[in-house]
Amino acid sequence: MPRTRHTLREDVGNPKEWSFTWAIADDVTFSSQCGFCGRSQIRLTYEVVRGPASLWICPLCASRHPISATLDGRRLDIREVRDQVHGLTARLKQRTCQEAIRKVQAIVNDPAIDEILVYFDRNLQLSPERAARLFAVLPIIGEEIDPSVFDIQTRSAAHQEEFGALEEPARAAVWPALTSVQRRRMAALGFAPAGAASRRSEGRRVRLSEELPGRRMTALRQSARLKATQKTC
Ligand SMILES: [Zn+2]
Repeated sequence: MPRTRHTLREDVGNPKEWSFTWAIADDVTFSSQCGFCGRSQIRLTYEVVRGPASLWICPLCASRHPISATLDGRRLDIREVRDQVHGLTARLKQRTCQEAIRKVQAIVNDPAIDEILVYFDRNLQLSPERAARLFAVLPIIGEEIDPSVFDIQTRSAAHQEEFGALEEPARAAVWPALTSVQRRRMAALGFAPAGAASRRSEGRRVRLSEELPGRRMTALRQSARLKATQKTC
């Protein structure tokens, strides 16, 4: 059993009685709640049904409970369920980012934004400099979108230096999109924007790193705008 047991709400009953509809919701403001365990401040939720009842559940519950799952009429085993959840999740997260960039693109006529979209499509991540450029204009779409829906590249020395070379306001804009691990790394290199240190102790952190197998999932966390910090990395 996993160390952290998540208690199911009483009316949930046996998870086996529920089945996935394969509908997924991406809440880019991180304000959804899990219908199984009640956890809040969730970004991604998965729809499960039992008869006429429908609930939206968090990634942990989606991967930890033996929820029934069929695809094209065939029953899936636990591994297949995880793969299916993972694949759908990755595609949805990718689409969320693409749509946000496209909305910016539709408003500002800037070849730099076109290039950012091409870059994102190829890498599914943004370099620090591109992230800074995008985040500077992102409010133009008039929707609340947490910058942390974007994955920022900081693995290579070149990308670390790229981050460090940004002006302070740009680093501050990209900072909320970094995972705690990335922030520690950047801080150790002396690249943390002023006032960033206090932000790290803010709110609770929920590690969901084991929730889904395979490719590292995009970091999910609250931006400084919101109350708490929540992430997978
Ligand atoms: Zn849950």
